Amino acid sequence: MYYYSTRNKTIRVSGAEAIVKGLSPDGGLFIPERIPVLNAEEQEELLKLDYPHLAARIMSLYLTDFSEEELLTFTKAAYGPGRFDSCDVAPLRKAGDVSVLELWHGPTCAFKDMALQILPYLLTASAAKCGETAEICILVATSGDTGKAALEGFRDIAGTQIMVFYPRDGVSDVQKLQMISQAGGNVNVVAVNGNFDDAQSGVKEIFSDASVREKLLAANRVLSSANSINWGRLLPQIVYYVWTCLCFRRGGRLTHGQTLDFSVPTGNFGDILAGWYARRMGLPIGKLICASNSNDVLTDFIRTGVYDRNRSFRLTVSPSMDILISSNLERLLASLSGDLSLTASYMEQLRANGRYQISDEVLRLLQAEFSAERVSEEETFAAIRSAWETEGYLLDPHSAVGYAAALRQRRPDTPVALVSTASPYKFSAAVLHSLGAAPEADGFASIDRLQEITGIAAPIPIRSLRGSAVRFTEAVSPSEMRRAVLDFLR
Ligand SMILES: *Cc1c(COP(=O)(O)O)cnc(C)c1O
Repeated sequence: MYYYSTRNKTIRVSGAEAIVKGLSPDGGLFIPERIPVLNAEEQEELLKLDYPHLAARIMSLYLTDFSEEELLTFTKAAYGPGRFDSCDVAPLRKAGDVSVLELWHGPTCAFKDMALQILPYLLTASAAKCGETAEICILVATSGDTGKAALEGFRDIAGTQIMVFYPRDGVSDVQKLQMISQAGGNVNVVAVNGNFDDAQSGVKEIFSDASVREKLLAANRVLSSANSINWGRLLPQIVYYVWTCLCFRRGGRLTHGQTLDFSVPTGNFGDILAGWYARRMGLPIGKLICASNSNDVLTDFIRTGVYDRNRSFRLTVSPSMDILISSNLERLLASLSGDLSLTASYMEQLRANGRYQISDEVLRLLQAEFSAERVSEEETFAAIRSAWETEGYLLDPHSAVGYAAALRQRRPDTPVALVSTASPYKFSAAVLHSLGAAPEADGFASIDRLQEITGIAAPIPIRSLRGSAVRFTEAVSPSEMRRAVLDFLR
């Protein structure tokens, strides 16, 4: 199977190349030339597979330049015991009428582990397949969780270096400490004096800067991306949507002809887009509910067809969703419209004016599969409180945004699954506040207090953060990011 750029069909690469390159040279994202469809019989076949086997099977449909056995060695290593603290990898729980898909049982306690535990294997193997001998330098812009998950995935992986930029005031105490205390000989972490969009734009600029590429090439190095613009990030995420449908089937909770809705707390549109691929593969998925916090650019877009980032950026209690430019949307627009010059023109309008409007036809297609909800800060707190008080289920603020959206959009006779993206202990202060408890002095005091109140133990990776030494203190302005990269990779 080949992949092409969302902006130009003649830029066509193999799966391995798409993963090594990350971004297409014209600034577009790589998308598969077609989406493999699984008929009912083939879906039945999958029922007997455990998570690593399912992941290898699904990924092999898209990465035809890898064998299923090869992929299985990766998925077993990435999702095996010792990496994830649940043998299901992605366990399904209940919070009243809402089923909760917990994607935070990996080493960094957020759903980014689902992709970033396996990406290093995919990337180094892809580089080998492409005959790439240069050292791979991963640049990451993070809204909090990607950075840590990428650092954990790539640390001390031979033939790679990784550098992470995070918005200085845009991440939680725990997220920040997780990153600045990162171990590993091939890692670097730098704060950006700006928000996530500044960090992401800075990284994108470095990627398209020919002089940076030349300098690195002279040192036998190439840049690659671990952000969700990389197909190698998106692909492993399709698996847990398939997994959830299969779990429902196995448990007799989804009869033939019935569909399952998903509510997805959304930022860069990567998680929910993976759900869309699963839907197009023929899995019994109904609506994909795009849940946003008060950075509600996607809510307006899905409801009106106008994407307009000209609005104030808000720091919220769900910082990993504080995003006004949702990069992965480009993939959906290219696939829905089938018109790549139109897609390129939308992206050019977005760059130049911060705004574009899709045609009525594309809007109709979009609304047939997606709906959207905006959840305010107060509604987020209320959702955490009511899920805990009425269902005994403890949500983190991101998942709470999805939970509130799921309850609003619930349809009779259609079950709904919430894609839960982080452990509540990554955001203890906000969760405590929601439960009506007094604020604590710091992140660790909040963790202790939350454990006392709820009787639920914090995950081990979070408990063991206490007392870890800070290794990285550098802070730069967005315009200094290029220099910081060249210094690190000297
Ligand atoms: C990254 C992240 C999201 C948003 O996911 P996207 O793929 O960017 O839409 C939501 N919640 C948490 C906890 C995250 O880390």
